[in-house]
Amino acid sequence: MDLHLEQKRVLVTGGSSGLGAAIVKAFADAGARVAINYRTRPEAAEALADACRHTAAGRPITVHADVADPQSVESMFQAVDQAWGGVDVLINNAGMDGAQALAWEADIADWGRVIDTNLKGAFLCAHQALRRMVPQKSGVILNTTSVHETIAWSGYSAYCASKAGLTMMARTLAQEAAPHGVRVLSLAPGAIRTDINRNVWEDPEGHADLMRKIPLGRMGEPEDIADMAVVLASHAARYMTGTTVFVDGGMTDYPDFAHGG
Ligand code: NAD
Repeated sequence: MDLHLEQKRVLVTGGSSGLGAAIVKAFADAGARVAINYRTRPEAAEALADACRHTAAGRPITVHADVADPQSVESMFQAVDQAWGGVDVLINNAGMDGAQALAWEADIADWGRVIDTNLKGAFLCAHQALRRMVPQKSGVILNTTSVHETIAWSGYSAYCASKAGLTMMARTLAQEAAPHGVRVLSLAPGAIRTDINRNVWEDPEGHADLMRKIPLGRMGEPEDIADMAVVLASHAARYMTGTTVFVDGGMTDYPDFAHGG
């Protein structure tokens, strides 16, 4: 199967760590040109670009932006324009889960930061991407949501609301953009081993609790997500838009009901 990703121009937000870094590598391996967005730690983005320098499309570029800031996002897309004259694939991956707090104890500024990053930030990037994709009559936007777009998670109301909002935003943008040849999808990971949840998988009790929630019996690895991101952005998924693909080891399959109910 030909993925038709050679030389495609791919921007990955939050691309210097965790899932984003695996997604960068997977697209680079597929022959795409990749832009690694980072907000902090430019050295991590540069090291990742170096690690991909021998791939067919050459060394990725690195672009700074805070996705929650409209000016910063506009400048990032201008930098990508300067390098490549446009963009073919946007991976809206930057995100945060925020501080754990019950609603009545939550810090309002922290709650807002999660929404601004995960939801508004994804919209700001989609807004800029669509301005380029609609006139060229092609493109793919892929949002990293979460199983928490559908599973409630006590203490993380902003995170759950942001990811549920993100998937509905994607479905709406998919409707708007479909007549223009642009696809919009969401990819919902389960529990994937990255820094964002290190406190859980490094703690034996937390890890055991997690295992009870995953029918396939293991945490996901970033590559489990990256491979699917490549497929969804590729020619192989040409007839898909406006939907969410769950890559979660069965977490959303109600594992509590495996032994009766
Ligand atoms: P991570 O913390 O390694 O990655 C998040 C990245 O987003 C970081 O590079 C961070 O710098 C960047 N970021 C945060 N705020 C930003 C901003 N304002 N502007 C630009 N970049 C910003 O964690 P991860 O697990 O790789 O998470 C990646 C995405 O996957 C997130 O959206 C997260 O919600 C989602 N996700 C992760 C899991 C999991 O189990 N790891 C599960 C479901 C969803």
